[in-house]
Amino acid sequence: MDTATFNDIGAVVEADRAHVWHHLTQHKAFETIDPRVVVEGKGLRVWDATGRETLDAVSGGVWTVNVGYGRESIANAVRDQLLKMNYFAGAAGSVPGAIFAQMLTDKMPGLTRVYYSNSGSEANEKAYKMVRQIAHAKHGGKKWKILYRERDYHGTTIAALASGGQEERKSMYGPFPEGFIPVPHCLEYRSQWGDVADYGLRAANAIEEVILREGADTVGAIILEPVTAGGGVITPPEGYWPRVQEICKQYGLLLIIDEVVCGVGRTGKWFGYQQYDIQPDIVTMAKGLASGYAAISCTVTTEAVFEMFKDAADPMAHFRDISTFGGCTAGPAAAIENMRIIEEEDLLGNTTAMGERLMGNLHKLMEKHSVIGDVRGKGLFCGAELVADRATKEPMAESKVAAVVAAVMKRGVQIGMTNRSLPGFNNTLCLSPALIVTAAQIDQITDAIDGALTEVCG
Ligand code: PLP
Repeated sequence: MDTATFNDIGAVVEADRAHVWHHLTQHKAFETIDPRVVVEGKGLRVWDATGRETLDAVSGGVWTVNVGYGRESIANAVRDQLLKMNYFAGAAGSVPGAIFAQMLTDKMPGLTRVYYSNSGSEANEKAYKMVRQIAHAKHGGKKWKILYRERDYHGTTIAALASGGQEERKSMYGPFPEGFIPVPHCLEYRSQWGDVADYGLRAANAIEEVILREGADTVGAIILEPVTAGGGVITPPEGYWPRVQEICKQYGLLLIIDEVVCGVGRTGKWFGYQQYDIQPDIVTMAKGLASGYAAISCTVTTEAVFEMFKDAADPMAHFRDISTFGGCTAGPAAAIENMRIIEEEDLLGNTTAMGERLMGNLHKLMEKHSVIGDVRGKGLFCGAELVADRATKEPMAESKVAAVVAAVMKRGVQIGMTNRSLPGFNNTLCLSPALIVTAAQIDQITDAIDGALTEVCG
């Protein structure tokens, strides 16, 4: 076969079918259908190789393209930076790296230091390495365990997966490194303790129980998503976060907040944790940081954490870690412009307003369709959990949820399905349009879901 060119889109699709291994995909399907190749995007609209247009309600599939497609100013900022200085590794800084670190920490009171890498998984691995090094250097090898929560996800690499609370993603990849310990999830709709008066407090206290069981002197940190994303869009219950913060202080745990999805505007504030008035020690972020215009992630710490790596008398006391592509300047150049756009266009304000409209529409759909068991969300980050029976809360079969998603797509809107907590439990419709979404587009998204639910579920 001749090498495919940009102009021969049929050959591109064949090259894709023959040579590309797609993410999260059962390739048997491509024996009967063509792989989908996306070729162009503008705002929230995406065109594929067949010329078909869809409204993207998931920001590039996984909560990433926060400022929308086709942003010329980001492309120009990256281009200019690449021509001037594209890359230098290791100890050297860069102009956009320094400027963006300042811009970012200005938005994060109490946090001061930015460590660059290029994926969410990697940003979390850096955080884990910091915790482990602090355990060796400051706690005589103790406080090395890291708690994570059921249903949260922190990435695809083996240690990140070890800290993942989604069995469907994890079960085929063990054995895992030691020291990652689960705590119960905090989804009241699927309460583990039956009807409790103060579910938020109960779920937070479950963390304390794990710490006491493991021994507080062995536990160094806990990692949590502010709003759980892939685990089924779980907004924390009232009272949860203040108690978590208290527990971290009481037992000397570093609080690591994974903002890979919530970060940079998705919930209507710069960071999801800022919705809950908490003060983390380490914050990780990736996806929306540069809206997918370049690969970039950050592990942001307090000065107190940073200071623990500054004992010049000890040759082992600095953070002996590198990320080769943490030296790429395209990432921070894109992130600077991305942040400027969010500010200039008041996309935090739009996210709050459009998020309320989306939640309002979903609640109306819930009145009409009994298969919607629960709706949850914060800002432009919403989910609708589908059930076979509202009374028993039995999850809707995954194949039927997939049929709903396909029926929405047939109506020209792409949504996602999520909740990989257990195999076959992928029952939550996931909605996360770009932060520029309009009221008319929000209604288009929920109208498509309405039509699809009627078609598939009656
Ligand atoms: N953390 C969260 C909350 C995520 O949702 C993801 C990816 O979906 C990651 C970390 C991992 O990010 P990446 O895929 O960039 O490694």
